[in-house]
Amino acid sequence: MNQEYIDQAVNHYRELLLSQINRAETMSAAPAPEKKEKTVIGLVGGDGIGPIIAKQAERALKALLRDEIEQGKIELRAIDGLTIENRLAVGKAVPDGVLSAIKACDVLLKGPTTTPSGGTMESANVTLRRELDLFANVRPVRIPQEGIDWMFFRENTEGEYALGSKGVELPGLLTMDFKVTTVAGTRRIARAAFEFARKNGKKHVAIVTKSNIMKKTDGMFSKICHEIAAEYPEIQADEYYIDIMTANLVNPAIRSSFQVFVLPNLYGDIITDEAAQLQGGVGTAGSANTGDRYAMFEAIHGSAPRMIAEGLGDYANPESILRAAVMLLQHIGLPQKAEKLSAAIERAAKAAPVTGARDGCTCAQFGDALIQALEA
Ligand code: NAD
Repeated sequence: MNQEYIDQAVNHYRELLLSQINRAETMSAAPAPEKKEKTVIGLVGGDGIGPIIAKQAERALKALLRDEIEQGKIELRAIDGLTIENRLAVGKAVPDGVLSAIKACDVLLKGPTTTPSGGTMESANVTLRRELDLFANVRPVRIPQEGIDWMFFRENTEGEYALGSKGVELPGLLTMDFKVTTVAGTRRIARAAFEFARKNGKKHVAIVTKSNIMKKTDGMFSKICHEIAAEYPEIQADEYYIDIMTANLVNPAIRSSFQVFVLPNLYGDIITDEAAQLQGGVGTAGSANTGDRYAMFEAIHGSAPRMIAEGLGDYANPESILRAAVMLLQHIGLPQKAEKLSAAIERAAKAAPVTGARDGCTCAQFGDALIQALEA
């Protein structure tokens, strides 16, 4: 192998290491968010089915928050430009103007965004999570008829994602990517999971890793989670490897015994889709990305380009982004509105069931049923 390539790779690694040391050292001395007179909710449509489902969420929020909007307590602000066409044109995962518009909001309700495969363009989500320091990805999954009430705390800024587009390639020979786990990054996600468990009377937290193989990164994740767990003696904490946990979630004999999960980024990404599928499909699940200053709420699925290609975009299920809107309302301190929206979603899902195909209702029909339920 050409020595020049090796030297380049070593220099590249050195730069990455220094950037990650800097990130780890400056992480989260974040000030508590100030109390504000007005909450600005940014609405981002995204790509593919994004704008289709986001439109129904916007209708619902306008109906639900009519008084607050009139009184100037809440502003719904449309943010354009986070489209794949625009991002490719300027060569940035999140164009500068869009990022500053987003940073001028308090919370975001976001439609899914397409990530080009290959190339070096980062996913818009990875950029937003880093730029807004949204370190916790929080995803609820409920299957009441089975007694399942899970809450996942996925670390959102580290692991394989921190440097996912900055790997090394020695052409014709090998490629390497990097996984990064910091002490501060792990502490804050573990703290978020255990605090949630305590506040909600949960008695069990599952720490999910592959620390038998990824000995440094997952090993440290596990150790820190156990250290934090020791501060919560009323909560039992057990570690599971990701492979067996994936099996456990499809084992009806034991799965309802799990309550709260805390996981590194990649395992969380994978297993929450599995969990959402058990609930009724990715089209039914929302998630929150929260940090100390900002929070972003979205469907857990992507832009579904296959649905668009097959002309099925109008049949996309908006329940996912509406579930995210419920979480948003809880987050900004409107639990009764959240409850109302949640109940209306249940009614709309019965009145206008969406299957993602032509045999089901359309996204807009679901939206109509939802508005009817909200105004009943
Ligand atoms: P996807 O989640 O977009 O879609 C997979 C399949 O799930 C679809 O073909 C469809 O059958 C079903 N589906 C998804 N949403 C649905 C809905 N609301 N109603 C009914 N059915 C639905 O997965 P993908 O095709 O792997 O990813 C497409 C693009 O989205 C990629 O570019 C990916 O990077 C991106 N992505 C973005 C986000 C995000 O913005 N948060 C998340 C995941 C993937």
